[in-house]
Amino acid sequence: MSVRKPFVGGNWKINTYLETGRALGREVVAGCEGIDDVEVAIFPPIAYVLPMAGVLGKADSKVLLGAQDCYPEPEGAFTGEMSASQVADCQATVVLVGHSERRHVIGEDDALINRKVLAVLAQDALTCMLCIGETLEQREAGQTDVVNESQLRAGLNGVSPTQLDRLIIAYEPVWAIGTGRTATPEDAQNAHARCREVLGELFGPDQAQAIRILYGGSVKPGNARELFGQPDIDGGLIGGASLKGEDFLAIIEAARS
Ligand code: PEP
Repeated sequence: MSVRKPFVGGNWKINTYLETGRALGREVVAGCEGIDDVEVAIFPPIAYVLPMAGVLGKADSKVLLGAQDCYPEPEGAFTGEMSASQVADCQATVVLVGHSERRHVIGEDDALINRKVLAVLAQDALTCMLCIGETLEQREAGQTDVVNESQLRAGLNGVSPTQLDRLIIAYEPVWAIGTGRTATPEDAQNAHARCREVLGELFGPDQAQAIRILYGGSVKPGNARELFGQPDIDGGLIGGASLKGEDFLAIIEAARS
């Protein structure tokens, strides 16, 4: 039995508006009442982080508030961006870094992602969720573990062992995100186990055992339990299915021990 508390995050991307987001947030909060054995977070669009803080705060809920990204510089002339300290100031406590859409749609590279990881972890109030994963082409070329290893090593360069309790990894094969295709539990487990080995090489085996590694990529109520039942899968990062309260809550339930 794993000592790691499962974590389930809902990445809303640029879906929802103020009122639909508030309603969804309230539904998640109500459904999570009394759930202490899974950590849950929602990642609304950045414009709605602060309003969602109002929803979560009012209900005195344990559902964590997340941001989908932030910029590595603390302040200055970076139009359209938001710093890690501003994210924290809006009461978010978890930040996604290196999501596949940031890497492959927006074009972020490992060097920028590493700067973001360090900027997030420099804020004591923030946890960083570093997202990694291979494209279909890389998978078909047998490169899954090589890509994950290089994204982990580059993304975590300079992270101090004292910051590891605020680090979560999300393994999200790019070909599985939003496509309805999911890694088999066995393939996902193999990738997670190798990621944990790499974390062990970087930080030591005990530290690696404590870091949560989530799976993401078309997780649904029907496949979540089997995926989360794998020894090295500690929950999930959920996109599409997090937009429907009932589905998201069923996935959270599947992460419970
Ligand atoms: C994601 O956006 O991180 C994700 C995993 O999306 P989906 O669940 O829709 O594949």
